[in-house]
Amino acid sequence: MTNTGTKEDPRVAMWPNYSPPQGLIFSHGKGSELITEEGEAYLDFLSGIAVTGFGHAHPHLVAALTEQASKLWHLSNVFRIPAAEELARRLADNSFADSVFFANSGTEAIEAGIKAMRGYHAAQGSNDRNRIIGFSDSFHGRTIAALAAAGNQSHMQNFVTGDYGFDHVDWENLEQLKNAIGPQTAGIILEPIQGEGGIRPVSQAFLQEVRELCTANGILLMFDEVQCGVGRSGHLFAHEALGIYPDVMALAKGLGGGFPIGVCLTTQVVADAMVVGTHGSTFGGNPLAAAVGNAVLDLVLEDGLLDSVKEKGQFFNQAIEDLIAKHPEKIESVHGLGLMVGIKCKISNANLLVSLRDNKLLVGKSGSNMIRLLPPLNVSQEHVEKAISILDSTLAAM
Ligand SMILES: *Cc1c(COP(=O)(O)O)cnc(C)c1O
Repeated sequence: MTNTGTKEDPRVAMWPNYSPPQGLIFSHGKGSELITEEGEAYLDFLSGIAVTGFGHAHPHLVAALTEQASKLWHLSNVFRIPAAEELARRLADNSFADSVFFANSGTEAIEAGIKAMRGYHAAQGSNDRNRIIGFSDSFHGRTIAALAAAGNQSHMQNFVTGDYGFDHVDWENLEQLKNAIGPQTAGIILEPIQGEGGIRPVSQAFLQEVRELCTANGILLMFDEVQCGVGRSGHLFAHEALGIYPDVMALAKGLGGGFPIGVCLTTQVVADAMVVGTHGSTFGGNPLAAAVGNAVLDLVLEDGLLDSVKEKGQFFNQAIEDLIAKHPEKIESVHGLGLMVGIKCKISNANLLVSLRDNKLLVGKSGSNMIRLLPPLNVSQEHVEKAISILDSTLAAM
């Protein structure tokens, strides 16, 4: 068959696993806006699903990428990569972790964490201690083990056979969790703020109980901060808002600002198990990814950035509360932390998303009939107010 690649039929040679709106093609972006070939600007409050945390074409990120691009793209990990070592050091210095492994995506960072948790117990002489507990409504990525960890039947069916060593309990159900823990339990994995299954921050009280259970039973606690990490919550990592720390953590989305990167961060005792030959990645932490990751960290760690995310988040939250009061038959509640915002709808979230897009505001969907707003962390007050105004007029017209 001939691949015409025309605008009318642009995806002829791609799997039908995505369904982007036909006829809407962006040619470039600037800050919080995406611009079509015809020059129409859309407000991007999805950020490639929490990835372009500093908007599009940020000068500091463009400079880091292009400067590195003219020097050295790739070596693989058969040679030292100083920029990756620097990024690892900075991540460790700014987190609970002592040591990191670089991957290229969220799901790969999750896979690394799963292996590290099992590897740790094996190194302690407990090879049979290999089961990991996950929670309902979780999302950890699309590779087989990440699917098995989340346990979402609609994602797993036809693809995941067997349990791959995972047990599942209901979100925030302490009794179920206690019953699920056994001598084979190696680790527990959860998102401090659930993203795909509905924007749902874990409660401090529950997470405290989980941490204590883990510590008392020698179980490792892994946080999936692939979506909520890297400043999105108004804290560098979302769990810092609760003051409860993991042994293992996965990051990805926001860390590359659009360049693919994933990281698994661990304490030293966990890292010590991952000796030569246990794990690897051809691309992970290559010079381009490391250059951009360092440049993103420069921006996230800049004085005042996290405070401004908190302030914009509070403003946004209050403005949405006002919209709920104005449109109580259409939207019912607001969820999240910082600039990770979910609005639970009474009308269909899919319909609201399309109407907002027609009005040039791009948002995402999430579980529990929510729409998800993930603007760039450096979004301007003017653009936040514009988004609120589009939400208001769109809801009024629906
Ligand atoms: C997106 C996401 C993943 C998977 O990341 P990919 O880069 O798509 O593999 C894992 N966990 C969470 C919480 C995510 O939001």
